Amino acid sequence: MKIKKFISKELSISDDDHCSSSSKTPLKKNAFKISDIEKIKLIETKIRDILDILGMDLKDESISGTPKRVARMFINEIFSGINPINKPNTSTFNNNYKYGEMLVEKNITVNSTCEHHLLPIVGIAHVAYISNGKVVGLSKINRIVDYYSKRPQVQERLTLQIVQELQNILKTKDVACVIDAKHLCVNSRGIRDAQSSTVTSEFGGKFKEKEIKKEFLDYIKLEANF
Ligand SMILES: [Zn+2]
Repeated sequence: MKIKKFISKELSISDDDHCSSSSKTPLKKNAFKISDIEKIKLIETKIRDILDILGMDLKDESISGTPKRVARMFINEIFSGINPINKPNTSTFNNNYKYGEMLVEKNITVNSTCEHHLLPIVGIAHVAYISNGKVVGLSKINRIVDYYSKRPQVQERLTLQIVQELQNILKTKDVACVIDAKHLCVNSRGIRDAQSSTVTSEFGGKFKEKEIKKEFLDYIKLEANF
């Protein structure tokens, strides 16, 4: 039996794992002063130091390439969404077919990283919107989820960032997102609860209305009592 932990955005959450209050990723002012290539070089030296302090023999063939591999992975893959240059292009189209119901993109893969422990957050996102005259290519929704996932994250902020980005693109408040994800910092260390997952949600505009919210939740068949 899967146990779900639902985090309401109205609650003030004081546990050390979840204490985000802003929807903006906290970046320092000069975050992009140095290039990604320079960042890779610097991170490589730091990872080398960490492994050395841990007592690993960096001359061993299996581990000698790890610092560079990890540095490249940080910048080019798992944290590539920090740099706005990697933001997906999301052109919209006119809603020519006059489709007036909600559109739901279900089961979008989420691969993110918990910013408190730098361990994976793995799950699925369900995103919905009701067109206000504009529509967006379906795969763009997946790309937006992926872009904001590729940052040190907390799930609550990720949920909000996805909704706010789509609200800006589609020029409507009528956007919703539910994320159900496993946090390896909970599943594989600390309390080591391998079964639990965390559900977060953000309902904008019409999705705050009971009937609309219910229709969306019925589509995604989430067994949670909102
Ligand atoms: Zn964590």
